[in-house]
Amino acid sequence: MLTSYHNHSTWSDGTASIREMALAAREAGVTEFGISDHLVLSPNPVVASKAASWSMKPEVFGDYVVAALEVKSELQTPAFQFRIGVEADFFEENIDSLKAMLAKYPQIDYVIGASHYAGDFEIDHASEDWEPLDEAARQRIWEVYLDKIQGVCQAGYCDFIAHLDLPKKFGALLPDALKPKMEQVLQAISHSGVAMEVNTAGLDKPCREWYPSEEILHRAIALGIPLLVNADAHATSQVVRHFSEARAALRASGITQVCEFTEHRRRMIPLD
Ligand SMILES: [Zn+2]
Ligand SMILES: [Zn+2]
Repeated sequence: MLTSYHNHSTWSDGTASIREMALAAREAGVTEFGISDHLVLSPNPVVASKAASWSMKPEVFGDYVVAALEVKSELQTPAFQFRIGVEADFFEENIDSLKAMLAKYPQIDYVIGASHYAGDFEIDHASEDWEPLDEAARQRIWEVYLDKIQGVCQAGYCDFIAHLDLPKKFGALLPDALKPKMEQVLQAISHSGVAMEVNTAGLDKPCREWYPSEEILHRAIALGIPLLVNADAHATSQVVRHFSEARAALRASGITQVCEFTEHRRRMIPLD
């Protein structure tokens, strides 16, 4: 089994259509492909306007689901399963609106819980945003971010957590002072019962490692958090990027199963 559940299309910040992404995945040997474009339903007008450049507009979410259903009906076979997902940012202030919106579409197989904002700071937008920040400011962003991920767990709106240590993207690694907080977040994920991805996109970013780091991943494994490997692909060439490396690392850590999702039901399937 080869699953790839975190992929973007031109509905958000990807460079190819849903259909092109799915066909590329099929060509690459993926047996279960999921599309998961960005949805940012922010209560903050500054965030909403920033997100408009890389996320779908909330009002077209229904059209996105319909477009994904069309590709599903064309391409799905027993050997190639097509799943419909969404990567939805968490905002405590309007989580009920987000939940209500997602609940309108029972065709959705999974929701990826994410945060790309600390306040209105865009965590993964550009290294230039991080450069003027001193250590204390970087630590503050990490702290706000980790609080948000705890909120994601408590809110119970998602099936798995995206790129857990995203603020390291441009090189600002998790400060030592916040390692106990990361442990709390891992405990929260474990208690909430949601899964977590190993996101291989990080290997192509300045941080040069997947999300989360080996150290965090080993803690997640020790806590029994269900895992899956994703590429966070924004182009057809990326749907299985660095999968062999990540899958080998999981195997070496004793992992034999990964998650699949059908209408929010999680099932463990063989890693190989
Ligand atoms: Zn993301
Ligand atoms: Zn993504």
